[in-house]
Amino acid sequence: MGEVLVLVDQVDGAVRKVTTELLTLARRLGEPAAVWAGPGYGDAAAATLAEFGAATVYVADDAAFAEHPVAPKAELLAQLVADRSPVAVLIPSTAEGKEVAGRLAVKTGSGVITDAVDITAELIATQSVFGGSTVVHSKVTTGTPIFTVRGNSVAPEAAAAAGTRADVSVSLSEAATKASVTGRTTAVKGGRPDLTEAAIVVSGGRGVGGAEGFSVVEALADALGAAVGASRAATDAGWYPHQFQVGQTGKTVSPQLYIANGISGAIQHRAGMQTSKTIVVVNKDPEAPIFELADFGVVGDLFTVVPQLTTEIAKRAQ
Ligand SMILES: Cc1cc2nc3c(=O)[nH]c(=O)nc-3n(C[C@H](O)[C@H](O)[C@H](O)COP(=O)(O)OP(=O)(O)OC[C@H]3O[C@@H](n4cnc5c(N)ncnc54)[C@H](O)[C@@H]3O)c2cc1C
Repeated sequence: MGEVLVLVDQVDGAVRKVTTELLTLARRLGEPAAVWAGPGYGDAAAATLAEFGAATVYVADDAAFAEHPVAPKAELLAQLVADRSPVAVLIPSTAEGKEVAGRLAVKTGSGVITDAVDITAELIATQSVFGGSTVVHSKVTTGTPIFTVRGNSVAPEAAAAAGTRADVSVSLSEAATKASVTGRTTAVKGGRPDLTEAAIVVSGGRGVGGAEGFSVVEALADALGAAVGASRAATDAGWYPHQFQVGQTGKTVSPQLYIANGISGAIQHRAGMQTSKTIVVVNKDPEAPIFELADFGVVGDLFTVVPQLTTEIAKRAQ
């Protein structure tokens, strides 16, 4: 069984959830091998990668990977592709991940598929395109298939493997170190999970009627341990910060559960959430297009329905 390289997404040595999802997916395609770029590889990271099935962990812990963005990672992966001839390379579908993938594709003469939400054992990827109106199945036919995979596309499942460390040294080109990171500022985080990583997202739209209306959305999110999202109508009105906007010009989310409250379901909003596994809708208009996507829908006033839902969930948590 050939190797499947998985580029590890990590912050200060902590493995991000998307990596465990990619390792789970990689097991379908071959033998997962994690690729760690940068300093900070420690016991906790090693344990997580082994727990989720990494047979090998290629560790390139040179500080240059943290000091220079993107290009060094592409050179590291290109070297591993040349040395190891993997079956495929999986990279998280972040802005940086997609740039790494593009550069890697050029360096290795390979095809690349971005924003995959699924990959079969036959290496056929599923993408949701044109604002989510079309589902595409495609396959790389040249070189080593490179995929960027959206967070939350796969539920992570543990399957312990050896996680054998293999140190890798790369002599980076001068071109790869031309851009330098000059500073880092940690985003101030609330108690809720990150919107793009959350397993559950509870969103509010124009139907919440104002900034104060988001309190019912937040209360439901907190009862479920969920992230809060918003439609553009809500963020443009200043009711909720723009960083929580879901949609074509906001964040793309693909949680296990998405609860849309007072959102009509415009194509631009759907583009950011329609690959969610289960979609629940609360809307007072039975004709609202969002009901077309709903697995479960409630026609009603969200200020009546959502607090009842929150109360019921809080009871179950007791
Ligand atoms: C280029 C472009 C990019 C865009 N990008 C995005 C994007 O990234 N994300 C995005 O969301 N939009 C985006 N939009 C905007 C999009 O077209 C819609 O205008 C927007 O999604 C509408 O938001 P909404 O559903 O909250 O509001 P509306 O369409 O006004 O819908 C409000 C809904 O709330 C319901 N409602 C009202 N009161 C209640 C109540 N008390 N209880 C229950 N239901 C109630 C109504 O029945 C209605 O269905 C974009 C538009 C363009 C042109």
